[in-house]
Amino acid sequence: MDDCIFCKIIEGEIPSRKVYEDDDVIAILDISQVTKGHTLVISKEHVRNILDYSDEMAARVFSKVPKIARAVKQFDPDCKGLNVLMNNEEIAGQTVFHSHIHLLPRYSESDGFG
Ligand code: 5GP
Ligand code: ZN
Repeated sequence: MDDCIFCKIIEGEIPSRKVYEDDDVIAILDISQVTKGHTLVISKEHVRNILDYSDEMAARVFSKVPKIARAVKQFDPDCKGLNVLMNNEEIAGQTVFHSHIHLLPRYSESDGFG
């Protein structure tokens, strides 16, 4: 879709630090790291957010999250766990209107999130 940052990242028109990719999703490091290793799992299909997901799309996208979360955790031996969250619509904090799931690695209670 024109003028969508994440579509441009998927197409390789904007550089990103890729963590994982398959036919359904791309996972990249967030440009603004809330915690170290903050990763976005972005659907390859341009859908605004969870409110526009079909059951079939939900199955394709969300089924990938556990293995990407495990990979992100295993990347850093200091990572003790992760928050998984999704902002849907402006009121909920969504700023990029192409669906994505945040993985926030956690290291301590004072690591910058929560
Ligand atoms: P939202 O607020 O919509 O849930 O999350 C959007 C996220 O996209 C933000 O955390 C923001 O830092 C990230 N972001 C925005 N533009 C870019 C970009 O060009 N590259 C990367 N890697 N992340 C981006
Ligand atoms: Zn898009």
